[in-house]
Amino acid sequence: MATNKLLLTFAICRLIVTVGLTLRPTELLRLGLDGQLSLDPTDMETASLDFGMMSRAEPLAVFHPASADDVVRLVGAAYGSVNGFTVSAKGHGHSINGQAQTSHGVVIEMSRSVKKLGQLSPLVSMEQEEQAQRYVDVWGGELWIDVLRAALEYGLAPKSWTDYLYLSVGGTLSNAGISGQAFNHGPQISNVYELDVVTGKGELMTCSEEQNSELFHAVLGGLGQFGIITRARIPLEPAPQRVRWIRALYSNFTAFTKDQEFLISLHGHPNSQKFDYIEGFVIVDDGLINNWRSSFFSPRNPVKITSFNANGGVLYCLEVTKNYDESNANSIDQEIEALLEKLDFIPTSVFTTDLPYVDFLDRVHKNELKLRSKGLWDVPHPWLNLFVPKSRISDFDKGVFKGILGNNTSGPILIYPMNKDKWDHRSSVVTPDEQVFYLVAFLRSALDTVIGGDENQSLEYLTNQNRQILRFCDDAGIKLKQYLPHYTTEEEWMDHFGDKWAQFYQRKMEFDPRRILATGQRIFKPSFSTKVASW
Ligand code: FAD
Repeated sequence: MATNKLLLTFAICRLIVTVGLTLRPTELLRLGLDGQLSLDPTDMETASLDFGMMSRAEPLAVFHPASADDVVRLVGAAYGSVNGFTVSAKGHGHSINGQAQTSHGVVIEMSRSVKKLGQLSPLVSMEQEEQAQRYVDVWGGELWIDVLRAALEYGLAPKSWTDYLYLSVGGTLSNAGISGQAFNHGPQISNVYELDVVTGKGELMTCSEEQNSELFHAVLGGLGQFGIITRARIPLEPAPQRVRWIRALYSNFTAFTKDQEFLISLHGHPNSQKFDYIEGFVIVDDGLINNWRSSFFSPRNPVKITSFNANGGVLYCLEVTKNYDESNANSIDQEIEALLEKLDFIPTSVFTTDLPYVDFLDRVHKNELKLRSKGLWDVPHPWLNLFVPKSRISDFDKGVFKGILGNNTSGPILIYPMNKDKWDHRSSVVTPDEQVFYLVAFLRSALDTVIGGDENQSLEYLTNQNRQILRFCDDAGIKLKQYLPHYTTEEEWMDHFGDKWAQFYQRKMEFDPRRILATGQRIFKPSFSTKVASW
């Protein structure tokens, strides 16, 4: 306890020296923080970096909260101090461009919080029979993998996912949270009943559609700008037991997108007449076909692009799943067959596997472990995620997949459509102005420094290519929106938000008037001294 106080005093002194914090150490101590304020080099290093490994910013201190009240006290102190300091919630740090970092304040490590007596563990509620009453209350820093595990103990699971589960609830809800279920259930931000949020004024507010709804909609997809999510109430459904996972190849892009669009148009049909998950990816080189996202193709059964007469060297892979359990195990084959026979893929190219539901949801982690063992995970990731309107996806194909990329992509390229009416327009996220739009995700790794890597895989090369892609779209008038957006000037952000900018700005002034939260997004400069206001 004494050591803790000593460390805390030291951390506070550092804050005072660096930002001229007007509180005396004893006053911060009197805030009664139960968690740990830390200057530990490992904590500082972890908070300085993210998955992108392209930007570094060391905070003044790292805070491990023990409760939502701790977050209230710390944000309240930042808001109330004369000169102030910034506060950035960090989930699992899987951003690409330093979005959870700050060099002028404190990083709150949400997913490494001090857990006391299981007080912050996911709490499943299924008291009522009605579906609407089945939900789980989770701490904002909880990882989705732990939410899944907790819900499965009751035979339940959330409905909408990300492809990778080692992301925090607060982190994905601050963006959107998308995967192959989004066409049907909407993104994760369309699947939230209620939130507890600590605003930039240090106030803890419960919000939902009915209560403090402006804050609720602002925070969902709000890039951490309006408050720190300390609790989320996520609806649950009965968890299926198994998954039939199917991939089929196309050499014709029009046939591929036509089929994807047909499949997502079935969202209103009974479960037996639609898939549960619809994604796809682009294959522009032989190396890619067995990369970390597509290890599904067995090494004993290697798939060669050349064997499928790819048009222009590019193949497209449709990826769909059907969930099942004892109740529909007997009909699953016919249901899948009825759907597949309406599609136009290369007839000999269907690959099927069958696995437990959890293994399917957690599929990317398996590949993460493989990459980690080869030293290929902790490398720079110049990822680019775009929402492309359906009307221009064919131009995008010609200009980018068959043009700019060449034949070496350095990582998976996902492509799948979603239905805009599954996205709540009141949230902060922005999507293209069309009923159907595609996620195109370039998930690339800079590997020139690892054995076997070449200069086409360098960070510079890939970053330039990303710029080229954006320039091409701009020149061609393709009105895309970045997902997990990264901009550095106010003009770019205004352009990104378009019609929503005025509302976004107004919400910021209401919920975080000193602009102290999530400054790593580089949208607003804090209203402190000039020293603090520069990034
Ligand atoms: P962080 O990087 O820690 O934070 C992101 C932003 O959210 C920061 O601005 C931070 O300040 C803010 N924030 C964090 N916690 C909170 C909180 N509790 N309250 C308020 N603001 C908060 N995304 C998808 O949609 N679908 C995918 O399939 C998908 N797959 C991915 C796979 C991998 C391997 C990786 C690295 C990323 C993937 N992502 C995917 C992107 C991911 O959803 C975002 O990067 C997300 O922000 C990561 O969550 P995090 O907990 O690491 O957030």
